[in-house]
Parts: sequence; structure tokens; C-alpha cells
Amino acid sequence: MQMKFCLSCNKELVGRTDKKFCDAQCRSTHHNKNRPLHEITIQKINSTLRRNRSLLAHFSPSGKTTVEREILFKSGYNFDVFTHIYTFKSGTYYFCYDYGFLPVKDDNGVEKMLIVQKQDYMENLVFNPWSTSN
Ligand SMILES: [Zn+2]
Repeated sequence: MQMKFCLSCNKELVGRTDKKFCDAQCRSTHHNKNRPLHEITIQKINSTLRRNRSLLAHFSPSGKTTVEREILFKSGYNFDVFTHIYTFKSGTYYFCYDYGFLPVKDDNGVEKMLIVQKQDYMENLVFNPWSTSN
């Protein structure tokens, strides 16, 4: 009988002849190692989006709150990443899924985030990246 070895750790495999890995952990290690780079990039962005969304929800449980930018930043908010934007006369809202914020400054120039939850009417807004004013 031919010996077979785990594709991940090279230990000899015993038991079923169609096995390729010792266990689920070796299988997952192998697949992670062989994942294309763009998949890793996508996963990183997705997890950043999720964290951003959780932070917005955490700091604005009622759906509309103003929080200092610094507080979110220190909690790990990443301002480079968002799912979409809505542009109004009051400014541009940056969304991560169903939560978003409007960058605002108070009278002392302190940077704050007006956190909002997505509203139904926003579904119908059409965003045109080429229009510079609205
Ligand atoms: Zn193994």
C-alpha cells in the first residue's frame, strides 16, 4: 500500500486513502497559504469595514450621535475604508453598510463625527461621481 502524506505538515496519513490532510487545521493552514493575494486583500478590507461598522453602531446605539473623531480613531476606526458615500448640501456622509457619519467641527474646531443610521430614502439616491456639485 502506498504511503500518503499530509499536504500541509507532511506527516504520514493513516486511515482513509482519499485523505489529503491530518485534520481540519492542516487543511485550513494549507488553503490559507495557497490563497491568492487578492483574496487576502479583500478579506482585510471586509474585516476593516465590519470593525468600522461595529464601532459606529457601538458609539451611536440610538442611530444619531455626535462623537469626537479622536475617540473613534483610538478605538481603531479606519477612515480610509467605507462602502459608499452620500453627498448632501450639509456635506458628504461616509457609510460602512448601514451606519455612516458626517465629518463636522464644533465651535472650537474639534473634529467630530455625526453618526447616523441609513434611512430608507437613501436607497433611492443616485450617486454620480462625475458631478462636482449638487
Ligand atoms: Zn498535517
